Amino acid sequence: MKKETVIVIGAGIAGLVAAKELSAYFDVVILEALSRFGGRIDTITDSGFSLPVESGAEFVHGQAENSIELLEEAKLSYQPVEGTFYKITKGRLMKQEEMVQGWDILLSKMAGLREDMTLQQFLSTYFEGERNAEIRKQAIAFAEGFDIAAIEKVSVQSLYKEWSDQSGDNRVDGGYSKLVEYLVEECRKMGCTLITNSIVKEIDWTGEQVLVKTLNNIIYGGEYCVVTASVGILQSATSKSAITFTPALPEYMSAFHQIGFGNVVKVVLEFTEVLWDKDAGFFFSDEQFPTWWTQLPMEVPLLTGWAGGPAADLLKELNEAELLDVAIRSVSSIFNLSIEDIQKKIKAAQVFNWHNEPFTAGAYSYHLPETPEALDILTLPVGGKLYFAGEGLYSGSHPGTVEAAIVSAKDVAGRLKKDKFNSIASFI
Ligand SMILES: Cc1cc2nc3c(=O)[nH]c(=O)nc-3n(C[C@H](O)[C@H](O)[C@H](O)COP(=O)(O)OP(=O)(O)OC[C@H]3O[C@@H](n4cnc5c(N)ncnc54)[C@H](O)[C@@H]3O)c2cc1C
Repeated sequence: MKKETVIVIGAGIAGLVAAKELSAYFDVVILEALSRFGGRIDTITDSGFSLPVESGAEFVHGQAENSIELLEEAKLSYQPVEGTFYKITKGRLMKQEEMVQGWDILLSKMAGLREDMTLQQFLSTYFEGERNAEIRKQAIAFAEGFDIAAIEKVSVQSLYKEWSDQSGDNRVDGGYSKLVEYLVEECRKMGCTLITNSIVKEIDWTGEQVLVKTLNNIIYGGEYCVVTASVGILQSATSKSAITFTPALPEYMSAFHQIGFGNVVKVVLEFTEVLWDKDAGFFFSDEQFPTWWTQLPMEVPLLTGWAGGPAADLLKELNEAELLDVAIRSVSSIFNLSIEDIQKKIKAAQVFNWHNEPFTAGAYSYHLPETPEALDILTLPVGGKLYFAGEGLYSGSHPGTVEAAIVSAKDVAGRLKKDKFNSIASFI
């Protein structure tokens, strides 16, 4: 019997995992806009650095069960991230010996919240006044920097779910793209058709088959379609990367606007020598690139700078040379070295401004108080044949991560299989 076809849009981790899971039951065709696989996982190996560097995802966060399971299945090794935290205090770089005083009180207040609200409302209700200034500052820095969220929009209940489930991070040896390579190989072995440079412009779900039309006017037909484009792409109905749905999906498109989507500018600098104490893992500051990290346990003179959320929004319109200047000024100030000194010691440098990535349109998602209702809509298939998946369609304790994308992909594949076999059962 001829198998039915599923068209998967996007070969990021969600698209690849969904394709792998579905390939035993369906013919699977994956359409990817870029000339490479992996989406927001992209290990760079050809830019003059003496080791692979990550332009996107780098850490396997905490207890990310599904990510770890997949790494083990792929027989890929990973190492715990190490290193002391340093913080600029009164103009000096100091070891941060302990978590911020009052963090437990903050978490217990968040845990007791009956009705969700934004972080801004929460802090001004429960942590007002001078004596709470430091805890407010830390909570805002964490939400903005790590969750890349706007504090006037982000949900406290979602932050609590994530912040209360923190444990150590890991890095994949050789880079995260090794996992993508494994999945691509598995998909090929299972007979999936993977097509790159294929920009989907329109999805017509009027007829029995879903018709997927690309920019170069090729039409693919399938009984089912799984769309894994980012929340940023699905929110931007008018941009040149937008996907049109026929008939239109106003309820779904407005649900995508009930999910937050932040920006990140990441910069990687390799120096001729290590400029910091050898035990250093992370540096936190008030600079324009506020957060920097080393590669410990690997002792290499490489630093990654991170501006997330509002800090990235302030930088996102700058060109690469301007961003590099800002990054060098931040490093100069943090390590108290002259700009000329820093410039002389740079061996390789690259800036990654995710706002400008046409097929991502930002970095990753965060929850608003309205997001759970939006997810109830977005996780329902349209007309029994059109499904959405990807990191933004996730409600667990690792939002905005590779783990979120894997979980969402497994969920959608499970639902699609169930829908298919239920419909067969109802015929019998
Ligand atoms: C700078 C940065 C740092 C990060 N750091 C971490 C981290 O340390 N740890 C972590 O766990 N997560 C991290 N993340 C988040 C993580 O990378 C993502 O959550 C995850 O990779 C998303 O996977 P996805 O498959 O849902 O989406 P994507 O990877 O975006 O895949 C979607 C795919 O769809 C394609 N596409 C889009 N539009 C079209 C179209 N019209 N036609 C065809 N194809 C299309 C895209 O090109 C893309 O390949 C980071 C992300 C960024 C940007």
